[in-house]
Amino acid sequence: MYGDIKKPTHLDDVVFKESKAYKNSNEWSWVNPKHGEFDHPANYYESSLEDWHCFDTLTADQECDVVVIGGGLLGSSAALHLAEHGIDTILVEKNRIGSAASGRNGGQLTPGLARWEAEEMIKRFSYEDAKKLWHFTSTEAMTLIDQIAEKYDVNLARKRGHITAAVHEGHLIALTQGADARKYLGEDHTKVVGEYELKALIKSDLYKGGLVDDLGGHIHPLALNRALVHGFCKNGGQVFEQTEVNSISEQADGIYVQTVTGVIKARKSVVIAVHHNAFKLLPEKKQTAIPFHTYIAVTAPLDVPITELLPQDHPVYDTQLQIDYYRGVSNNRLLFGGQGTGTSWGVGHINQYLLGRVNKVFPQLNKVEMDFCWSGVSDLTMNGATDNRKFGNKYPIYAVHGWSGHGVAQTVRIGKAIADDFSGKNADYAMLTKIQHSDILFGRLLAPLAIPMSKGWYGVTGMLNPGKMVSF
Ligand SMILES: Cc1cc2nc3c(=O)[nH]c(=O)nc-3n(C[C@H](O)[C@H](O)[C@H](O)COP(=O)(O)OP(=O)(O)OC[C@H]3O[C@@H](n4cnc5c(N)ncnc54)[C@H](O)[C@@H]3O)c2cc1C
Repeated sequence: MYGDIKKPTHLDDVVFKESKAYKNSNEWSWVNPKHGEFDHPANYYESSLEDWHCFDTLTADQECDVVVIGGGLLGSSAALHLAEHGIDTILVEKNRIGSAASGRNGGQLTPGLARWEAEEMIKRFSYEDAKKLWHFTSTEAMTLIDQIAEKYDVNLARKRGHITAAVHEGHLIALTQGADARKYLGEDHTKVVGEYELKALIKSDLYKGGLVDDLGGHIHPLALNRALVHGFCKNGGQVFEQTEVNSISEQADGIYVQTVTGVIKARKSVVIAVHHNAFKLLPEKKQTAIPFHTYIAVTAPLDVPITELLPQDHPVYDTQLQIDYYRGVSNNRLLFGGQGTGTSWGVGHINQYLLGRVNKVFPQLNKVEMDFCWSGVSDLTMNGATDNRKFGNKYPIYAVHGWSGHGVAQTVRIGKAIADDFSGKNADYAMLTKIQHSDILFGRLLAPLAIPMSKGWYGVTGMLNPGKMVSF
């Protein structure tokens, strides 16, 4: 029925417009008023793609083998891979496909499991297990995205190569150790470069050198999200948007997924892919992650070619506690993100903050103006890794959250691992469920206090020991 859902189509630049997603008090979007007054403007990603399909709301009870809850990258990937295995799957999304973090992120493809990099994996696991986990979250995650793009013939605006730029000489030691750990685990895509070599790649005086990684890169994340759903529908999948799930209950003959407008009976399994909202649906009420707000802006077309800032079009993360990250996007615009806050900052505050950061990194730009600015929500676990769970007695219930503002590539890979686990193909997902997570006392209620307190603590530690690299 949905087999011909079109592929995402890129525009040469943007069309300023109203968003097709619901207005959500947690996440706001802004466009420069000179482009028109919009009640709820589309962000850069939605504005730079042609309008896409709106799926119906569920209006009658349904039955299928697996229900996937949440139409972000994780849910859409799980749904695609389940459908590719021939499993009768329904995907339900409370808003629109890609309307949350998956269609609002920086689009940077970096390896690792949320905040866990190769060294952390070596510390915690045997050599073989660390190697398997590292490859799963790095080469396999990146390759899978390329394979999906090729298989469904979609343009994801994929670019290869990524830089982590060191703001302190001491951070180069940590980057060198990270590169060494990756080599030890059998992955050799990185090169540590000094201040002058890096200047050929980033025209900024802020950095003391950096790590250049051929494995990572960048993509248009909303195009990826839509491509996954395009593939899912091509394989017979069904999607309901604007259909919020209120509860799930396991019974003798399956799992009943209660939505606002009807019930879907999952005969075999449910996947909870709702990111920081997971605690509302989990069978076990342990809260292992707390939410935080984070922000992105996109400039108006710059007055100099972007290649004068980023000659080889690399996306960049820096090594500050409160990182800056940026990359070029269409029509000579710069996308620039940063900050993590316990309560949501407003548009004025964030515009001023991100404009200040752009001018700090690239003072050679004469007059920068922001055309777009928006917020998004991600969530943090205590140990820094994503929490991957499997519950249920007769019928498995999968749930993944705790992305720490990372995970574009890994959501897609973990979605496939869920489908493989359900089909009994391999033990990839079982590897992830072995990672233990602690309950956070008062969970998300604590976020407005815990986020500034931990940033304050790390900030003081950073001042006392500026060469030690701590990422938030
Ligand atoms: C501003 C920002 C910048 C980021 N930048 C990067 C980056 O550059 N690189 C990177 O790797 N990662 C980045 N991330 C993190 C990355 O976006 C996330 O890890 C990833 O998108 C998580 O995907 P998801 O599918 O789990 O969650 P989401 O995209 O949040 O999707 C969850 C979906 O579930 C739906 N939902 C929630 N509750 C219900 C319910 N009860 N019923 C039905 N549906 C429900 C939501 O509407 C939503 O669409 C960033 C995140 C943010 C917020």
